[in-house]
Amino acid sequence: MSSTILDSSRRQLNIKLDKLTINYYIKINLYKLCIYMSNLKNHMLIGSIAGLAVYGVSKCLKKEPFILNDAFAAAVIGSAFAVVPDVIEPANNPNHRSICHSLVAGTVLIEVLIRRLRSQNLSHENELLDIIVGGYLSHLILDETTPKGLPILFG
Ligand SMILES: [Zn+2]
Repeated sequence: MSSTILDSSRRQLNIKLDKLTINYYIKINLYKLCIYMSNLKNHMLIGSIAGLAVYGVSKCLKKEPFILNDAFAAAVIGSAFAVVPDVIEPANNPNHRSICHSLVAGTVLIEVLIRRLRSQNLSHENELLDIIVGGYLSHLILDETTPKGLPILFG
């Protein structure tokens, strides 16, 4: 009799523990998803601003009119390429940042962007490449502001 009551209590306790474990698991993963989404949202927002800025600078240097549709496209492209570093090196562990997230990669891209914006050959294809580089760079700049920062070359 007492053994049956004890087994029943044990089963109920196990069920409660299972529910707690499941709830804890769901909450932790929702928290991780929220952090990831907020980072993704920030990267996309800053990437769109970077794409727009590169487009604006390019138009000023070429002394061409600022076309709203092209500016919108530049923002979308900048936003899309701002998430590429985390696609190449997904944030699935604390040391995921490696060569594609490195200071060397960022420095090379800044050099490329400055040289291209200074060059006399500012074709539309080059403009697209500059916007892509701008979006990618915005990701590295944003990641550099985190406590973990960026590695010099490898994580
Ligand atoms: Zn990143």
